[in-house]
Amino acid sequence: MIKVLQMQRLNIPFRVSFSHAARTRTATETVFVTTELEGGAVGRGEGCPRDYVTGENLDTAFRFFEKYKERLKAIRSVADLMDFAEAHRLEIDENPAAFCAIEMSLLDAFGQQGRKSVEELLGVSTHMRRFQYSAVIGITQGFEKMADEYIALGMKDFKIKLSGHFSEDLKNVGYLQKKVGDGFRLRVDANNLWCDVDEAVDYIARLQMPLLGVEEPLKSRNFSDLKEFSKKSKFRLILDESFKVKDDFDQVVGSDFWIINVRVSKMGGLIRSLRIVEKARKLSVPIIVGAQVGETSYLSKAGMIVANSCGASLLAQEGAFGTYLLEKDIVDNPLQFGKKGFLKYESLPDGYGMGLVFRK
Ligand SMILES: [Mg+2]
Repeated sequence: MIKVLQMQRLNIPFRVSFSHAARTRTATETVFVTTELEGGAVGRGEGCPRDYVTGENLDTAFRFFEKYKERLKAIRSVADLMDFAEAHRLEIDENPAAFCAIEMSLLDAFGQQGRKSVEELLGVSTHMRRFQYSAVIGITQGFEKMADEYIALGMKDFKIKLSGHFSEDLKNVGYLQKKVGDGFRLRVDANNLWCDVDEAVDYIARLQMPLLGVEEPLKSRNFSDLKEFSKKSKFRLILDESFKVKDDFDQVVGSDFWIINVRVSKMGGLIRSLRIVEKARKLSVPIIVGAQVGETSYLSKAGMIVANSCGASLLAQEGAFGTYLLEKDIVDNPLQFGKKGFLKYESLPDGYGMGLVFRK
């Protein structure tokens, strides 16, 4: 039985501000849900509402939570949770980050109570692969300094946010290519910068750089333009803002242009993310497991569970920034990558529920 269920705002300042074409952020914009069961088990979960991605903000997340709080408190098991999710599918489509935080917190609590990991509760592999993360750099005055820090770690796989200021983007791309050297791999994220296909194609072509993919160059969900972009630019498209629910596979099928970016908060939680991964693997659609800027170890751990289920379809993984970006994390042993982008061994979570030790 759930004794207490509450949603709070989580506000942790960043060490440096992080910008992309759609937003600048200096602190977390996060909802955090705590579930306390009658037996004393406590679970926690995190979601990051983003208006330019899912149309959510902190207010809509709280409204969703308040509306369903009493019904959620009647959930006693993972099966109940799945029934709730099925019965409220359309509402969750509109409130994925809010539901993500709720679902994670319930799974964490049920895991603690039943002395099982969330992986065991969900029937996915508990044998963790070796996680290697991409370096992600936003639009920033301190680009070279930040790049140098990742290069010093030996990281070779980069994602950078495009600003739309060509000389600046060109300089940044050139800087990385020169400094990273052999093994350099790059993808760029435009966060829906362009309306016109040819303008986007021309911009990317002038960077004169082989790319793993181009993320969201055009208006979100304009699939015919996105296809045209891919044909003309010869680069694969990474769908992020344009891929939110399982039905979006209808747009993706029959094309080898696409890569999907699966972010647990955007997808509406772990269970939905795992189902999307399952379908992507069946359809041979490559997957990048993405992250939220400013996520804590809770969402990074959820991302690990998803990445662990991707098999050979996993192209890259983001997250585990830990205190590179946040002034502090909320767990002991924050999940953080180290040399070459590999998750630091000492931070590999091992325990019941989400396996994290919460610290206020
Ligand atoms: Mg993106």
